[in-house]
Amino acid sequence: MLKWLGSLVDSNEKELKRLEPIVAQINSLEPEFQKLSDAELRGKTDKFKTRLKNDETLDDILPEAFAAAREAARRIMGERHFDVQLMGGIVLHQGKIAEMKTGEGKTLVATLPLYLNALTGDGCHLVTVNDYLARRDAYWMGPIYHALGLTVASIYPPQNPDEHLPARLYDPDYTDEKDTRWPHFRPVSRQQAYRADITYGTNNEFGFDYLRDNMAIDLSQYVQRPLNYAIVDEVDNILIDEARTPLIISGSAEEATEKYNIFARLVPQLKKDEDYTIEEKERQTYLTESGMTKMEKWLRRDGLLRAPSLYDPANYSLTQYLENALKAKVLFQKDRDYIVKDGQVVIVDEFTGRLMFGRRYSEGLHQAIEAKERVKIQRESVTLATITFQNYFRLYKKLAGMTGTAATEAEEFHKIYKLEVVVIPTNKDMIRINNPDQIYKDEDSKFKAVAREIETFHQQGTPVLIGTVSIEKSERLSDLLKRRGIPHQVLNAKNHEKEAAIIAQAGRVGAVTVATNMAGRGVDIILGGKKPEEPKREDFQDEQEWQKDHQKWQKEYQKWQEEHDRVIELGGLHIVGTERHEARRIDNQLRGRSGRQGDPGSSRFYVSLEDDVVHRFGGDRVKGFMDWAGFDENTPIEHSMVSKAIENSQVKVEGYHFDIRKHLVDYDDVVNKHREVIYAERRKILEGADLKANILSMVRDEIEKLVAASCSHDFMESDFTGLIEELTTIFPLPPPINPAALSKMRPNEITEKLIEYAEQLYEQREAEIGAENTRLLERLVMLRAIDTLWKDHLTEMDHLRQQAGLYAMKQVDPIVAYKKEGHALFQSLTASIEHDVVYTIYKVSLTRKEAPAQRQPQKVAVPAGRKVGRNDPCPCGSGKKYKHCCGR
Ligand code: ADP
Ligand code: MG
Repeated sequence: MLKWLGSLVDSNEKELKRLEPIVAQINSLEPEFQKLSDAELRGKTDKFKTRLKNDETLDDILPEAFAAAREAARRIMGERHFDVQLMGGIVLHQGKIAEMKTGEGKTLVATLPLYLNALTGDGCHLVTVNDYLARRDAYWMGPIYHALGLTVASIYPPQNPDEHLPARLYDPDYTDEKDTRWPHFRPVSRQQAYRADITYGTNNEFGFDYLRDNMAIDLSQYVQRPLNYAIVDEVDNILIDEARTPLIISGSAEEATEKYNIFARLVPQLKKDEDYTIEEKERQTYLTESGMTKMEKWLRRDGLLRAPSLYDPANYSLTQYLENALKAKVLFQKDRDYIVKDGQVVIVDEFTGRLMFGRRYSEGLHQAIEAKERVKIQRESVTLATITFQNYFRLYKKLAGMTGTAATEAEEFHKIYKLEVVVIPTNKDMIRINNPDQIYKDEDSKFKAVAREIETFHQQGTPVLIGTVSIEKSERLSDLLKRRGIPHQVLNAKNHEKEAAIIAQAGRVGAVTVATNMAGRGVDIILGGKKPEEPKREDFQDEQEWQKDHQKWQKEYQKWQEEHDRVIELGGLHIVGTERHEARRIDNQLRGRSGRQGDPGSSRFYVSLEDDVVHRFGGDRVKGFMDWAGFDENTPIEHSMVSKAIENSQVKVEGYHFDIRKHLVDYDDVVNKHREVIYAERRKILEGADLKANILSMVRDEIEKLVAASCSHDFMESDFTGLIEELTTIFPLPPPINPAALSKMRPNEITEKLIEYAEQLYEQREAEIGAENTRLLERLVMLRAIDTLWKDHLTEMDHLRQQAGLYAMKQVDPIVAYKKEGHALFQSLTASIEHDVVYTIYKVSLTRKEAPAQRQPQKVAVPAGRKVGRNDPCPCGSGKKYKHCCGR
């Protein structure tokens, strides 16, 4: 590990050396670019684009493009990229992580590689940690891109219930008078936001859009373009901290618990053999005519029946409850198939006898059993789509990241994302003083000491920022401060925008701000508070009015300057950590809020032996040391060796968490392969792939399989009746194809004959409804099969994963077992998709349905409901089994 870090430091030096000549080149272009008029500067963009079309590479034009972006920033924002910022920009362009400390201006750094990479026209994404920053940064940097002739947009989650997938485009020609903060944000669609050259948004929004796109049933619904280049801001937070939980789009199955109860009450009144039969072997149960009549009577009495016959399509949803209730009653036995424990129905694994906590029978059966056992019925949530951030971000052609704290996690970035970390030096030397930790025996005395320290600083006027590990701890500290009469603000990362405004003032004289780890991230703490903004002449029509405002500003600015100088005299922002976090990185983030851009500052962490990280991972060693040092209960101890011991335990916890995340990725990688295949298939379908050939080949395969299965070696024993019965569930057969006729043919003749018929029938149907409609139906049938079965597959994989843990006990590597069984499940998924398509395609049709409110008759595609099994009740409503009725 240490050796590894050592080589990292060396290679970092080398990396930086390699950047120097490029930086020099950009600097040498500066005078030339400064001479350009605004229009000429804007014109550079088109020139670069042309050069890229003429086979120059992005690397070729990097120095000029960076020079152009720097010049635009200088003119428009009055901020000229520092040399270290150019370095950071190059590193980002190279698809690496630039570690740049807080306050180094990473927002501005990103404009360089984003501008350069957007020149190809393929779109670039900037990923922010929260929705406030997604808007702030797009708007803040918008003028630079605009001056260069590029478009920039922002996507963010809905801020109120009426908003649907909100997005804004930066457009200075548009003004929303009501919006005082971001008046030039024009509302646009998500799709338009993704068509902008540069799109800012949160990791969640990007990820969800990707999942939603892959659930679309028409290409026109896709909002994203192919994922080209992304820069992830606060990359450690997004790719490490947030990567522990995957993105999931889930729906809760629409169910009414009360229906389960009704059926659980009705079904026990049915009599075995008279009202229902059991086919033990298949573990199936069927209602008889008498059972059906009884159920219809009872349901009519309860007002639930929508049509006279239970098997009328209008009653379809009822039959599902009925089937499940019946199964739950007659096929599933308490204490054999499941047990009831703490008000929950727990499945018993039929092979191992183990209790499968957390697993549920699917499609409403579990709920039916819950109703039977009179325990609380739990709503099932179905996973419709899911992906981990690891796998989402790996989809980009090029990925880069920036943050103040990446180096400690360099190994993980490298192993999981193949991202290299380059540590960029600060623009000015860092002069913050990091005091050694103070260690207390228990939490109480620690918090009291923290409050005392805050009081001291507050009284002398030095601003203090206190970091806590949880909302609960923030509140505890807040109480202590209230008792001492110290005015303070508490931030809990709840309302990013409001908290941003507060934290921007955390550097004022006497300010005391308590924040949980994430609160106010991405917002700069300026000593003396936020600088008053100079009024711009062009915003005023009247010269005098501007003069007046400007004078007012001058006075305010002077006041700000005095306060700023005063805070510097007081030693700058003081940071208090109330606990060492599990990861050193998070501690560094907290410290890093002070001492930005050469500012003075200081920090101190308080630790107690009761703290989680000490207690769980390094407690004995720390304690041993303290005993040795003659530690007494009331005085704190401050020794570098204790800090070392704590850091060692942090390294241990980091490793532990890394393993967990690695594990998650290992598992997700298995599903990821499946996802890639399925999503690619879907996409092909939407793009208009030739499905007919595909489907017909599935039909041929199925026919071959069926014929092979029914033709026995001993020809006399071949089951042609069974074959015909099975075939009729695919398509209706004409009279000439019957068991007697088939028995006179050889197996391959049968196959040929059937295939010929299947193809003819297909053509015939196509001629009837038209080629265009047939293509539409093919697409719908395929998509429907893929989507339904893929969803089920995700659930099954999830179950498999929960089971995988059991393998460890059997001396089998769980991940190996998971991969193997996952592969089998995937094969059965593809087989099921084909099966579904074959058994549906001949049954779907287009019908005209008069929509009551519309005069124009509407064309609706009606894919057949679910597949009708031979033993299912006939959908015609006769009450007979399908095989004895229309399916005959
Ligand atoms: P970071 O994300 O690295 O913590 P920010 O992007 O929030 O930093 O920028 C911090 C502050 O530095 C901002 O107020 C920004 O305007 C300022 N800043 C960044 N780059 C420059 C520059 N080249 N010249 C002057 N000010 C800059
Ligand atoms: Mg930032």
